[in-house]
Amino acid sequence: MTGGAGYIGSHTVVELLAQGHEVVVLDDLSNASAEALRRVGEIAGRDVELLEVDVTDEAAVLAALERARPEAVVHFAALKAVGESVEQPERYYRTNVGGTLNLVRAMDAVGCRTLVFSSSATVYGAATQMPLTEDSPLGATNPYGWTKFVVEQVLRDVAASDERWGVALLRYFNPVGAHPSGRIGEDPRGVPNNLVPFIAQVAVGRREQLTIFGDDFDTPDGTGVRDYIHVVDLAEGHVAALAKLAGGGADGDGGVRGAHAWNLGTGTGSSVRQVVAAFERASGREVPVRVAPRRAGDVATSYANPARARDELGWVARRSLDEMCEDTWRWQSGNPQGYAAS
Ligand code: UDP
Repeated sequence: MTGGAGYIGSHTVVELLAQGHEVVVLDDLSNASAEALRRVGEIAGRDVELLEVDVTDEAAVLAALERARPEAVVHFAALKAVGESVEQPERYYRTNVGGTLNLVRAMDAVGCRTLVFSSSATVYGAATQMPLTEDSPLGATNPYGWTKFVVEQVLRDVAASDERWGVALLRYFNPVGAHPSGRIGEDPRGVPNNLVPFIAQVAVGRREQLTIFGDDFDTPDGTGVRDYIHVVDLAEGHVAALAKLAGGGADGDGGVRGAHAWNLGTGTGSSVRQVVAAFERASGREVPVRVAPRRAGDVATSYANPARARDELGWVARRSLDEMCEDTWRWQSGNPQGYAAS
């Protein structure tokens, strides 16, 4: 697993270990913490090997795969801040696209051609037709989004060129929440870009108030609507996709080859104000808000049609918005400074 010490990666390691898989993590720790993996080991009762590798280092990626000899790769390692990608596009393409090319070459060299890729609903660009299905038109609205769009295309082309490849393009909606143990969770560096980590830091007293980016959208309460998905549901989606590609899917058929996109979302949208209210209930804290103009590039509404993942992977998101907030709060209140204190 690349990027296995990060937010979604660490939760996915827990679920893979629980299913009896062996996991080796490659991570450069540039936006992740070795402490997260140590805690994953505590939760799972088993240590996880960490190789400190930067995916842009082709030789290091190859050496790591030669050591790990994986049956399959789950590829999370990437940069993900939209605003930063506008300022530093070359760095984003180098890491996200170049890193994936290095990985594909190394996988081919060691004879591993089963890959689960962290894509994103951002590949639907500025789509307005909801819900989004895997056949909705693709696009992007910023360099980060284009890197996901380009990598998907690269992987479709690779899979088309050699029938031994099996690739899952998992299009995440808005991952939030934390492991119910409260031991691992999202620990953004600097000011959080995303809604729920920001709210959590306000509730715990690290920030004064939430800025709501626009309350004049064409939505029921005027604030943006998104499809928030519990990170543990998302992690389970990766296990299901891996099983599908490896041939141990819910329907027990042989391993699926070719490239396949699956939306991982709940199918239900929540507004910014609904998320704030849910978080206040979960935490028992007030979350002060102020309203500011819209953020550049934000769409009013985005939510998934998750039917294909249900039908083909046997996977559905089961956890509610209240659970997402309760689990985020357990993590945030138990670790007000994230992993830094450890
Ligand atoms: N949002 C907000 N204040 C913040 C961060 C986000 O009002 O400090 C809103 C944002 O406009 C969007 C929703 O919360 O409607 C989710 O934003 P996030 O950045 O978490 O995800 P994305 O925009 O990628 O869906």
